Amino acid sequence: MGYSTVQDLLVEGQIITALGKELPTSTHEVIDLRGLHVMPGLIDPHVHLREPGQTHKETIETGTMAAAAGGFTQICCMPNTTPIVDERKWVHFIREEADRFGYATVHPIAAITKGAKGQEVTDFVALHQAGAVAFSDDGKGVQSAQVMRQALLKAKQLGVPIVVHAEDESLSGAGCMNAGPVAERLGVPGIVSSAETVMIARDVLLAQETGAHVHMCHVSPEAAVQVIRCAKESGAPVTAEVTPHHLLLTDEQVEHLLAQAKVNPPLRAESDRAACVRGLLDGTLDMIATDHAPHTKEEKDRGLLDAPFGFVGLEISFPLMYTAFVKSGILPFEKLVYLMSTAPAKHFHLRGGRIQLASVADFTVVDLNQMRRVNPEAFRSKGRNTPFVDRELWGWPVLTIHRGQTVFQA
Ligand SMILES: [Zn+2]
Repeated sequence: MGYSTVQDLLVEGQIITALGKELPTSTHEVIDLRGLHVMPGLIDPHVHLREPGQTHKETIETGTMAAAAGGFTQICCMPNTTPIVDERKWVHFIREEADRFGYATVHPIAAITKGAKGQEVTDFVALHQAGAVAFSDDGKGVQSAQVMRQALLKAKQLGVPIVVHAEDESLSGAGCMNAGPVAERLGVPGIVSSAETVMIARDVLLAQETGAHVHMCHVSPEAAVQVIRCAKESGAPVTAEVTPHHLLLTDEQVEHLLAQAKVNPPLRAESDRAACVRGLLDGTLDMIATDHAPHTKEEKDRGLLDAPFGFVGLEISFPLMYTAFVKSGILPFEKLVYLMSTAPAKHFHLRGGRIQLASVADFTVVDLNQMRRVNPEAFRSKGRNTPFVDRELWGWPVLTIHRGQTVFQA
């Protein structure tokens, strides 16, 4: 984990060239950040940028602008676009488009199976050479254990993670929220926890057998946290992420917010939420991911049964986590920085995640004393879909530097 200190930081070009007390300032532009906190650029391992093809929801330009405004300098984007990112040309397209705007570094995650249909594994070598940092059919679970096992053997050879959206469709069915008393009161089909946990357990066993790195997306039920904890105790090559919404909200929200609180995996019971927090504190869950999933207002207004799953998260996740866990004394500031930058860099084999000499100048400045309410109308993202509207938060990013360039300034 990192540490905190008071010092100057010299950036020349894209690189941090000096760190220390009272560095000479005569020949450089000076930015006075007294009273503020400088962190390594945040890294989000799970973002839906919606391009190619779904530009009414988000574009690479608006999504990376949202990333910069949220303090993220690197993001991994999911392949469930139109078309699916299952060919190298789409990996190239995403990287080139992101570089053209320059707000953040985008690492494409390519599909595990062609068309994300769950049947035929994609050309991992070609996609990895094109720049895919991991493989996932996120949005859907890979239903066949045999197909998943083949994918793990290929990923093992390349040394990259398989990113698991754990959902057994024979159990999740047509569910639109967590199965439980709230779903019963609302009279809507629920999604049982086992829909997620069964596949997490399966893929832990496949990871143990193949030795491939399996990364579990957006973990939500208590039983899944327990399975991952046991897996780690037995030395399985497993990592896991958790979202701010699964750490902070329960299915009670759906009663008031309906489709605005519809997400997959669903917001679950208080016991599940509390288990995710415990998992984060004891290291069972390795990192924070937003699962930023923009949709239009028209789509989210279709009602609980028909609206798409998902929330935006890039622009509020640091203040959400800071306010709920650091300001309240549950997590040290340095641990939150670790969970939102250092850990994703480490497990996805990305540069960054630390402020150190000779590293790329990616960093984020936050004002821990500034309180603002969440106002979706001010988002850079095209998506406004969040259940956190009007929440009072502290710790907003005020300056984001990506490769030595200012990409966001409040
Ligand atoms: Zn997912």
